[in-house]
Amino acid sequence: MKNNTFDVIIIGGGFAGCAIAYHFAKAKIDTLLLESKHICSGTSSACAGRAQIFDSETQEYLRIVYQGYSELPSLGDELEIDLEWNLPGHLTLYDSEEQLASHLEKIAWMRDLGLYAEIVKPEKIKEIEPFLNSGNCVGSILAEEGHLNPFKFGWGYFKSAKKLGAVIKCFSKVEHFITEDNKLVGVKTRTQSYYGKYFILATGAWSRSLTHKVGVDLPLFFTKAEAMVSEPLPEILHHHIGTNGFYDSVHGEKKSVTLGLGQHINGCLLISNAIQPVNKIKRTSSAWGMPAINQKMKEFFPTLNNIRMIRTWSAPSPFSKDYQPIIGWLPQVENLYIASAFHLAIPTIPIFSRQIVDHVLSQSHNLASDFLEPYSPKRFFK
Ligand SMILES: Cc1cc2nc3c(=O)[nH]c(=O)nc-3n(C[C@H](O)[C@H](O)[C@H](O)COP(=O)(O)OP(=O)(O)OC[C@H]3O[C@@H](n4cnc5c(N)ncnc54)[C@H](O)[C@@H]3O)c2cc1C
Repeated sequence: MKNNTFDVIIIGGGFAGCAIAYHFAKAKIDTLLLESKHICSGTSSACAGRAQIFDSETQEYLRIVYQGYSELPSLGDELEIDLEWNLPGHLTLYDSEEQLASHLEKIAWMRDLGLYAEIVKPEKIKEIEPFLNSGNCVGSILAEEGHLNPFKFGWGYFKSAKKLGAVIKCFSKVEHFITEDNKLVGVKTRTQSYYGKYFILATGAWSRSLTHKVGVDLPLFFTKAEAMVSEPLPEILHHHIGTNGFYDSVHGEKKSVTLGLGQHINGCLLISNAIQPVNKIKRTSSAWGMPAINQKMKEFFPTLNNIRMIRTWSAPSPFSKDYQPIIGWLPQVENLYIASAFHLAIPTIPIFSRQIVDHVLSQSHNLASDFLEPYSPKRFFK
């Protein structure tokens, strides 16, 4: 680094920015990461740590998710941190035969990859989850799913990137871009200017407002997602449990509440999800969201009526028009690479971050990456 000049400047220090910084630093590239608050304080701070696989919408995406998922058991060794990796599995509850039928093909996709997935009849649900009141549930699907500690996931990438020489500056909000002839050459925070060859926008839900600063309207949207965590309890859950539609509601246009419930190895229950479409990012828990989640949980777990909650939170949940991530060079501005709207972040970020670094280091904007091409922002600007 000379005079605030770096090879690569990453904007945003969530899971994506930290993982990308790690891979650049590992490739011995002069890397600067600028984060407006502290590390993983954006949507990554809300993550439940599920390594979701069954939620992949297409067989093609499942293959990518599976590739990343297969690397998770050894990621802790690579990042020199205990990620608390474990395999709770996921039980999806369906309240309509049609919805259940529409997910049966996913069982075949999972099995094709050697992952377990099976239908569990209502009468069997009680055997595998004795505290669950499966009520109107017409059936469920039990599928392989891993879990890790999301704080350690982000921290592991951050710490390893730093150890390998990446410069990471927190409380350094990028406020302006410096361009010359439609080419991005630098960024400005309130107090400093930094110059670089390449710029990676890993700002999640904030990416749209940042692209406005270079005259581009990136079609990236977000909902407000709310969740909470309980005091530690004795083991009462064996799997992560979700009601069908959990993932769809995250992209929804209506207020909705679906159940997403998992017990962390320390005994705390992570309980989500209340979703509201919003235009502005507001991080406070709402007077609607918390009671709504509570009500949903009581339906399915009546015995958990009197547990204490120790923290509630909310975060923007970003998504693109086609719900796929947005990864690649922004066609309108030379040198600006987008890495946002991640979908099934825990299993995909390890693999996408590595691919992003290879793509950027291929050094030519016209050079496509076959792997990343389907996610290019170009698809929105035809
Ligand atoms: C309630 C909830 C639960 C979830 N659970 C799971 C789960 O179990 N498993 C899973 O895989 N995914 C889960 N997700 C999704 C996952 O958390 C996200 O996909 C992931 O965290 C996105 O990471 P990111 O780095 O792209 O974005 P972010 O974490 O939002 O990072 C963007 C960063 O950019 C920074 N920034 C913004 N503007 C600027 C600026 N001008 N200058 C500098 N920095 C800036 C922000 O402060 C932020 O830290 C969940 C999401 C929610 C909301």
